[in-house]
Amino acid sequence: MTAKLIRFVDLAPTIRHFVFSVPEVEALSFEPGHFASLTAPVNGKEITRAYSLAAAPRGDNQFEICLNRVDDGVFSPYLFSLQPGDTITLKGILGTFQWREPAMDAILVATGTGVVPFRAMLQDLFARGTDRKVALIYGTRHAESLLWLEEFRALEAAHSNFHFVPTVTRPGADWAGATGRVQPLLLDAMGSRVDVQVYVCGLKEMVDSVRALCKERGMERRQMIYEKYD
Ligand SMILES: Cc1cc2nc3c(=O)[nH]c(=O)nc-3n(C[C@H](O)[C@H](O)[C@H](O)COP(=O)(O)OP(=O)(O)OC[C@H]3O[C@@H](n4cnc5c(N)ncnc54)[C@H](O)[C@@H]3O)c2cc1C
Repeated sequence: MTAKLIRFVDLAPTIRHFVFSVPEVEALSFEPGHFASLTAPVNGKEITRAYSLAAAPRGDNQFEICLNRVDDGVFSPYLFSLQPGDTITLKGILGTFQWREPAMDAILVATGTGVVPFRAMLQDLFARGTDRKVALIYGTRHAESLLWLEEFRALEAAHSNFHFVPTVTRPGADWAGATGRVQPLLLDAMGSRVDVQVYVCGLKEMVDSVRALCKERGMERRQMIYEKYD
């Protein structure tokens, strides 16, 4: 399928949010948490990469992705070179990262652009209505790279069962929130509970370390739902 870039906006120094449409379909159907598989010829070679969808389905033919420009990368600089009207091939929308049954209280853990699928999943969950307790622990190096900070804070203000914990490892003088890595904050959020699901998304090193922590705490494999970006 051909996807056409409608618009983009820069959310942080190296992070861009893209909105595409797929003119040949009326509506795209996918689960929040799933990713788009995009393909294009880059430097004469066909390259394919996955990008989590940044918004819940709206019943139209648009999809949103949000990505970090990896400076020595191949595909992300190519996507950053696209202008509105340009097209790219959408191979499909795929994935297994999504809300899992049985519905339990959940702790979502993300670093960097690993928060992208959680935006779609949280939009969907709270639009449907839930009495599950959900916490989002979200870390970046610098506060200016925290995506959708106001949106997640507004969700927390509107829903007493949603708790938002942004954290940065290199805080500036004006950062008043949590500092340090996501792992100790996950342990704080869990307390003595093991009857929760932990959803984790980001680069392999963080995902593996969170899974090891959960295993040490006695959680079962099916309670840990994860997506690795590399
Ligand atoms: C299921 C899935 C969903 C993904 N969703 C997203 C997303 O929503 N947003 C997003 O930015 N990326 C996402 N990625 C990563 C994306 O597919 C590419 O790997 C990334 O854009 C780098 O591609 P590249 O060709 O520019 O770099 P490559 O030439 O492939 O270089 C890869 C290098 O980039 C690093 N890298 C990969 N992803 C990131 C990242 N996000 N931030 C920093 N370094 C990274 C890798 O560790 C590796 O060192 C996802 C990956 C998977 C498997």
